[in-house]
Amino acid sequence: MSGNLTFAMIKPDAVESGKSGAIIAHLQEQGFLVRAMRLVRLTRPEAEAFYEVHRERPFYGELVEFMISGPAIAMALQSSDAVAGWRTAIGATDPAEAAEGTIRREFAESKGRNAVHGSDSDENALREVAFFFPERELALLGVHLPA
Ligand code: UDP
Ligand code: MG
Repeated sequence: MSGNLTFAMIKPDAVESGKSGAIIAHLQEQGFLVRAMRLVRLTRPEAEAFYEVHRERPFYGELVEFMISGPAIAMALQSSDAVAGWRTAIGATDPAEAAEGTIRREFAESKGRNAVHGSDSDENALREVAFFFPERELALLGVHLPA
């Protein structure tokens, strides 16, 4: 049921350097529909929870500091095969390894400050959309989480 929805974020590096508009234009040109969008300023506990899966990784502390360093833009994106499609559109984690024409290749500064986030599974897409958007907005998206 969730295959046409993914969670995307424009990270603080790209918001701070004024690239949000270009990134949104780019994703719309590629056929992604913005179904929900919020400017967010993550607290430390929120950033820690969002990236909980990476807690034991050496870059976790730096990642959390980066994600709370300024506002970010949270989005629910719709397209067919949204999770895989958005991962292809953003490119590899490290912009140096990202394919030509991908968002990270075009807009990211480094492997850490890499402009955008994309969910890696349908299950995580739902979890991440629900992390940022209230239930009444999820209902408008047709997302109904198990109680
Ligand atoms: N990251 C980092 N150094 C690394 C790997 C990841 O700073 O060696 C950061 C980067 O911002 C990345 C995020 O941690 O986007 C989450 O890592 P993941 O492996 O999930 O990459 P993604 O799914 O974002 O491509
Ligand atoms: Mg990831």
